Amino acid sequence: MAKIQMKTPLVEMDGDEMTRIIWQMIKDHLITPFVDLKTEYYDLGLVKRDETDDQITVDAANACKKYGVGVKCATITPNAQRMTEYNLKKMWKSPNGTIRAALDGTVFRAPIVVKGIEPCVRNWKKPITLARHAYGDVYKNAEIRIPGAGKAELTYTAADGSETRELIHEFRGAGVLQGIHNTDASITSFAHSCFKYAIDTMQDLWFSTKDTISKTYDHRFKDIFREIYETEYKARFEEIGIEYFYTLIDDAVARVMKSKGGFIWACKNYDGDVMSDMISSAFGSLAMMTSVLVSPSGVYEFEAAHGTVQRHYYKHLAGEETSTNSVATIFAWTGALRKRGEIDGIDALVTYANDMERAVLWTIESGRMTKDLALITSRDDIVVLNTEQFIQAVRKKYEEIA
Ligand code: NAP
Ligand code: MG
Repeated sequence: MAKIQMKTPLVEMDGDEMTRIIWQMIKDHLITPFVDLKTEYYDLGLVKRDETDDQITVDAANACKKYGVGVKCATITPNAQRMTEYNLKKMWKSPNGTIRAALDGTVFRAPIVVKGIEPCVRNWKKPITLARHAYGDVYKNAEIRIPGAGKAELTYTAADGSETRELIHEFRGAGVLQGIHNTDASITSFAHSCFKYAIDTMQDLWFSTKDTISKTYDHRFKDIFREIYETEYKARFEEIGIEYFYTLIDDAVARVMKSKGGFIWACKNYDGDVMSDMISSAFGSLAMMTSVLVSPSGVYEFEAAHGTVQRHYYKHLAGEETSTNSVATIFAWTGALRKRGEIDGIDALVTYANDMERAVLWTIESGRMTKDLALITSRDDIVVLNTEQFIQAVRKKYEEIA
């Protein structure tokens, strides 16, 4: 079989620990035998980030902007313990944070649904994608512990020096105070990413906030979404038969629980943080979750939602057998290759990605899976595979169906 040819390179961002091991296995067994892989390689492993004073992360983010599609391996976000472990010059920032800031994106996460791993919510038949706004609100707040009686006010000083004031509270005793903000620019980016992603994946888009209570703040989100939808996306939504609707978050929660799935749920930062954990655990496992960062200018960065699986890596280093789930990392690759195929008009690459994903699902549905899934499956006739055996089983299945 001739290998599939690519036109534009993918931005490949390698990472750390067990996921770095899996990364290479996926390339060796599942990609390079079938695709003449073209990538621009960036090593975001901690050693290289330290060596380059993290310039490599900035370069990788710029390459994503240049080429439009990237795929990223999980990476270590250094903490005090990693400082000593890797003898680091500095406690480098999270690469995901750096890339997100550079691309100004929204993160979309969706569970990979497979027979035998059933969601806790029985009526969920299709994945629910959560789109989380990743800027501002309580994550960029200012807080004061109020010691005793006094007046708290919001003050905005305009560039010309004029002031606008609003009473927050007349404290009679001790308490707490918090100031939060967001910007029209960031909310606008968030909205564009959501509408684009809905069109891309042909799914309805739901958006929810608490605008009945927050009549200015949350209402601004609602208005910006509505305005952008009406002027820029409504026609396209109607053309392809998908729907945008806004509803109060309380109502959204009730509807989500009763739904069959198969839509995108956009949430403000805090709501998205909490709801994405709820959705992912109800669907099964972080290792069965796709994650893609979509920028308003149309850059796509695919990754796994989980971390570097450190405990498994240390076992691997000690020469012990591991059974690490590679599904999310495989889907990061197939997601990126499919997108590259779509943009460059390479049908064979799109078909390859679809077939490879089917091979993964069918391998699990045939009862062959890694240990983490064996623990939560509803089936009893299963074979537990180690890390490499699972990837090889997927390859065998792919060769049968391709
Ligand atoms: P983690 O790597 O996601 O692992 C947490 C635990 O979840 C693992 O110990 C394992 O449980 C289970 N698990 C996660 N992924 C798995 C998989 N693919 N297959 C099987 N089991 C899996 O999170 P962490 O231990 O909190 O973080 C480790 C490192 O990853 C940290 O340095 C952190 O900075 C980094 N991190 C990176 C990203 C990213 O780059 N996107 C995201 C999160 C964390 P058992 O050990 O019980 O088997
Ligand atoms: Mg969380």
